[in-house]
Amino acid sequence: MSKLTDINYIKSILSKHGFTFSKSLGQNFLVNPSVCPKMADLCGADDRTGVIEIGPGAGVLTNELALRSCKVVAVELDKRLLPVLEETLSGHKNVRVINDDAMKLDFHKLIEDEFPDNEVVICANLPYYITSPILMRLLEERLPVKAITVMVQKEAADRICASPGTRACGAISAAVHYYCEPEVLFRVSPGSFIPAPKVESAVIRLNILKTPPVTAKDEKLFFKVIRASFLQRRKTLSNSLSAGLSMQKAQINEALARAGIPANARAEEMTMQQFSDITDALYCGV
Ligand code: SAM
Repeated sequence: MSKLTDINYIKSILSKHGFTFSKSLGQNFLVNPSVCPKMADLCGADDRTGVIEIGPGAGVLTNELALRSCKVVAVELDKRLLPVLEETLSGHKNVRVINDDAMKLDFHKLIEDEFPDNEVVICANLPYYITSPILMRLLEERLPVKAITVMVQKEAADRICASPGTRACGAISAAVHYYCEPEVLFRVSPGSFIPAPKVESAVIRLNILKTPPVTAKDEKLFFKVIRASFLQRRKTLSNSLSAGLSMQKAQINEALARAGIPANARAEEMTMQQFSDITDALYCGV
């Protein structure tokens, strides 16, 4: 067992550096010895595949990734963790820690600079306050990565991975399915972290698709249609699209009819193909 998952070791090293947890930075560190090895095993890291980690914290997952991968670049926003990471990861020559904000960092450049000859995967125990924006950023930028394996809140995991056309589907599920095939890998209990969060967590893997499952005529409009459809998920598509796209109901109903979709259908019943058909019908009509 790695020393890094020994709760007493972690506590002593953090207190030696005068570190206190910041709630606003989503700092819940993993101390369950089985979780990080499992994540690192399942994320696709190997001796030819580099890893980008977001938010290494005290380095517990970083350590497991470094053991399995040719190189790990870990992006940590909190400066106070740099001396901690220097100490906990001192045994690894293949780890680079960058002090930066993952919401602002140029990931394309990072991949070009750090992994010119390697395949890349992303693996992280994400700070929960930026789960959706960071995931959408990583996907929308179409980074040349094979997969994104992340720990998120259980509810977020279920929502992100829900298939379009099912009740659990939301705007993020539909958007995510455009870029990848998401899957829930395993659940993680609150007691696996210090401090323990109030909610359950889950590890998900987003297997990046080479081409999207549907080809709408206008990609921007496609995402607008998805967002508008789910804005008022209890309402009919006709109502939510009219409100969300600021268009006359008659115009929306005409487009829905052209797409072969009843005006009283709801967003959660739509498949990716149907969202694409609605987009094309609206595109022709505008
Ligand atoms: N990987 C560690 C673990 O599993 O124990 C820590 C995970 S903790 C949930 C999230 C980490 O992300 C913290 O270290 C926090 O400081 C860092 N973080 C928060 N916001 C960030 C951001 N915008 N960019 C990079 N790191 C961030």
